[in-house]
Amino acid sequence: MTEKLYYTNPYQKEFTAKVQDLHSLPDGKFGVVLDRTAFYPEGGGQPYDTGWLNDIPVLAVSEDNGLIVHVTAARPNGETVLGRLDWARRFDHMQQHSGEHILSAVFSDLFGGENVGFHLGDEAVYIDVTMGALTGEQAATAESAANAFVFANLPVKSEFVTGGDLASFPLRKQPAKDYAKIRLVSVTGVDCCPCGGTHVAASGEIGLIKLRSWERKAGIVRVDFVCGGRALEDYRLNSAVTRDLSVRFSVPVEEVPAAVERQLGKTETLSRQLQAAKRELAGHQAGELYEKADMLSDLKLAVSVIPDATAAELADLARAVLARGRAVVLLATGSAELGKAHFVFACTPGTPADMGKLLKQTLAVMGGNGGGTASWAQGGGNWSDKLEDALRAARADVCK
Ligand SMILES: [Zn+2]
Repeated sequence: MTEKLYYTNPYQKEFTAKVQDLHSLPDGKFGVVLDRTAFYPEGGGQPYDTGWLNDIPVLAVSEDNGLIVHVTAARPNGETVLGRLDWARRFDHMQQHSGEHILSAVFSDLFGGENVGFHLGDEAVYIDVTMGALTGEQAATAESAANAFVFANLPVKSEFVTGGDLASFPLRKQPAKDYAKIRLVSVTGVDCCPCGGTHVAASGEIGLIKLRSWERKAGIVRVDFVCGGRALEDYRLNSAVTRDLSVRFSVPVEEVPAAVERQLGKTETLSRQLQAAKRELAGHQAGELYEKADMLSDLKLAVSVIPDATAAELADLARAVLARGRAVVLLATGSAELGKAHFVFACTPGTPADMGKLLKQTLAVMGGNGGGTASWAQGGGNWSDKLEDALRAARADVCK
């Protein structure tokens, strides 16, 4: 059995220990078992500690039958080693984990919602609470209650008790199975439950507990929160974003949502006006194309490259030209910038040209996909500087 120093003193950052077992692992790594350790292995939702054994990085830690195995990046020399924790990582885990105890107790006391899951990751921290839903008002009430316990700076204690003595403790949740001896963690007057993790000594060290969001899942509400250092980071980010928006919109921070709403309204109006203007422009463009088109027997032959048009705009334009009279319309758009080209070949039904065939010939030169009928064909592919030549060739084919 490895002696677990983190049980007696979770603030121990350094220790010396004897190497009891050393075995090689794949990729040049080693598994190191010591007689004692301050490294917490993964468990109860709390991730493992990292750090160093004799300056060799400890990459992961796990527990196997009471033995704690440190996975190191290389072989540590000597019969005894100096262990050092990555304290920033461990203290962050202590803040989040201790905050989880208080928040879980608050949800249980206020709403009867029980914690049935805890995740503490690099990005997200959340608890799953047995509630059908959570309102914004309830979330704010829970947040305030949890922070009141933080501000009261209550002692957080741990102790081992025998299974028979459990009944005399006000447990928030029962242990998963029967143990001869079990470790209880209590936040004085707030929470008491079985736990093997590492915690701060007084609730004030948790710092701010902030609920960030929550969502309903099958039978539970998942509550995303941050404590301490993570809450500071979160506040810093949100404060920078709102300050930036406040400057951009030239309004106080509290008026930013209304300013964004006004801007969205303006954008919608402008977008509608732009669409109307585009439709009008297409009408003029179609008129001009039709008027300036050469005559081919009794047909107008309109051929043009339209810059910056979408496939849909090109098709609308072709339809608008055809609506003015009997015609063959050969349109192309595209640019080297976008790297794309698009064609619409259309004619009044019954004219002697075959648009589908013509497009296939054009795409054989240009590259790309497309097809259609004798009176309507469209398609395109990658941009090529052969676009103008391809359109000229298609025109010549119609004139044959
Ligand atoms: Zn705990």
